[in-house]
Amino acid sequence: MGEFELIRRFFDRAPNRALLGVGDDCALVRPNAGLELAMTTDMLVEGRHFRAGAAPRSLGHKSLAVNLSDLAAMGAAPRWALLALGLPAAEPKWLEEFSAGFFALADRFGVELIGGDTTRAPLITISIVALGEVPAGVAMYRSAARPGDDVWVSGELGGAALALKRPEIKEAARRLHEPEPRVELGERLRGLAHAAIDVSDGLTGDLGHILERSQVGAVIDYERIPRPAALRALKESELERDCVLSGGDDYELLFTAPPERRSQLQLLSGELDLALTRIGIIQAGAVQLLVRDAQGKPMTHGGGYDHFRDPA
Ligand code: ADP
Ligand code: MG
Repeated sequence: MGEFELIRRFFDRAPNRALLGVGDDCALVRPNAGLELAMTTDMLVEGRHFRAGAAPRSLGHKSLAVNLSDLAAMGAAPRWALLALGLPAAEPKWLEEFSAGFFALADRFGVELIGGDTTRAPLITISIVALGEVPAGVAMYRSAARPGDDVWVSGELGGAALALKRPEIKEAARRLHEPEPRVELGERLRGLAHAAIDVSDGLTGDLGHILERSQVGAVIDYERIPRPAALRALKESELERDCVLSGGDDYELLFTAPPERRSQLQLLSGELDLALTRIGIIQAGAVQLLVRDAQGKPMTHGGGYDHFRDPA
């Protein structure tokens, strides 16, 4: 199977909203008037982000999910994606499953694959560009947290990190391999939340980005942070702390909102059938994150994940 047959068989789908999709030198899109275009890219590399032999269907899902998660964190509605794929070999079975995982998620949110690039490469390398739309002036910047804001998180944290440490725990494994991007939540947070970020590198690290950009501090109550029942059940306090505070790959949304929004956010949580939990507050002053334990004492934590600090 050659490059062009591969593209035609697995990735060439007629676009709907885009003016021109796969097959020309560029795709063409026309954003709706009055909307801003949100653009992001995220890469998954074999041996770094997933192990050799990882299930291709999950890879197709996850590689798109991590990009949709970034759009959600800005409050953007996902529209289009471009897929650059490096593969050691063109295996139809692998491509079949990869594209099935990719398109199942894409179709759920009306995302169109409008182009990409395909090449042979020593390791599986998946790089996606995702484009979304957001009404002018309402995107949620990391720099928008204000003193007095509540800090909120969706869903649960620590499941994906737990899966790396205890692969036998099935509910955690799904969180790691097939994360659910919080697309609807991101769109619904427009006008409610101030700052937002998706938790890809761990709570403390990602909240740190908001604090840095907003030049504020935060106090977080450790016990309030929602976590999988399976993690609590282990009763291993250090492992639990590392997963909850520093574990990456959960792709929940972490956001700040003024206290006047509490009741609206509770309603939204019910409507989306997604837990939204208040875990702390933003404070004026030093850019500093304090995590308090149940007794109110400061906890030490390892910070977030850093691809260059951590040995491969
Ligand atoms: P070019 O030589 O202009 O870069 P290519 O020959 O690489 O174009 O690709 C042909 C067409 O197929 C282009 O429209 C490109 O966007 C698309 N394409 C290539 N690889 C993929 C892919 N993995 N997924 C979706 N579209 C792809
Ligand atoms: Mg090309």
